[in-house]
Amino acid sequence: MFELPPLLLALAFILVGVAAWFLGRRNGAARTVRLPRDYYVGLDHLINDRIDHAAEIFARMAEADGDAAEIQFALGSLFRRRGEVDRAISIHSRLRDHGGPGTRDKAAFALALDYQSAGLMDRAERVFEELAASGEYRHAALDHLVGIYETQGDWAKALKVFNELPPAVQLERGRIAAHYLCELAEQALLQGESERAGTLLRQARVHQPSLPRADILTARLTERAGDPGGALALYLQALEMAPGLALEIIPAVLTIARQTGHADTFGELGRRLRGSGRLSPRQLAWLLATAVPPAEVAHLAGITADLGVGVESAAEASSLSALLTRIGDAGGRYQCDDCGLNSVGWYWHCPKCRSWDSLRPAVFKWAERADQSARPT
Ligand SMILES: [Zn+2]
Repeated sequence: MFELPPLLLALAFILVGVAAWFLGRRNGAARTVRLPRDYYVGLDHLINDRIDHAAEIFARMAEADGDAAEIQFALGSLFRRRGEVDRAISIHSRLRDHGGPGTRDKAAFALALDYQSAGLMDRAERVFEELAASGEYRHAALDHLVGIYETQGDWAKALKVFNELPPAVQLERGRIAAHYLCELAEQALLQGESERAGTLLRQARVHQPSLPRADILTARLTERAGDPGGALALYLQALEMAPGLALEIIPAVLTIARQTGHADTFGELGRRLRGSGRLSPRQLAWLLATAVPPAEVAHLAGITADLGVGVESAAEASSLSALLTRIGDAGGRYQCDDCGLNSVGWYWHCPKCRSWDSLRPAVFKWAERADQSARPT
């Protein structure tokens, strides 16, 4: 017995349905639908993975009946999935230019998907823009355009298209618009345009009032404006809201604390992270051991001694920190919750699965595992 890959199985069933539909339509009075011999031969090729032969037969069938657009769509998507984008493009272009009014938009949408998978983003963008102007494919086309601009890091265009989405969708995805505005604010900060960055961050909070990323960027602006105390408060607020950002925030907090002579910074960090209510004692200790620079890690023992996770002396804090840092540098300090990507650096937007806010310090998971194995069975 052969085993079918799930995609082929699905396509085979789709093709059965499609063929039955178009044959049934041509012979509406008959209760029993008879499929032509070619169809069975084509299906046999398909399920035995002889895709080229199957494609040829289905193309011949589609050509024999000019109305059999559905078969051509199935064929086109089959080619795209196989990476034969040129053939998919030629099928969908023909359907768009010569198909009936009902198939033109569908063919244009499929064509844009072909261009996208061929990496021809300019062409994909143009077709999606036409479809986004009106009609049945407007919403889907806007979604794809947003995806293209996100991939290109063109946040201004992504935001512009976002603003064309239906109001309910905008409301639901407010956090993503806030990220676009934060991306733009970060660019403005890099270019030294503090005022513009401030305006963009205020706009970001309209979409998402509580936003640790905006707190971090506002802290940088506040620091630049000569108010380190204000910046410190913002950093700590972001840390309490999102302990997963500790690796990004704590070095900045310690730098300000050194400059301003802020007392008991380590105690404050421990209190804020405990205040988040989201970390187990081991996660808290291990997170601090990873986030605090080696020169200052000995100070940790003061906070971690009473957590009961075996980090009671400066020497224990130092060796734990060295061990966790080594593992993180080798295998990634962060992991994406959605796709499992391991990454040494921080991303707000996962470079693999394109989710926002999905990275977490890998140390959270290591600590969870250690907690599980420490539990008596
Ligand atoms: Zn991911």
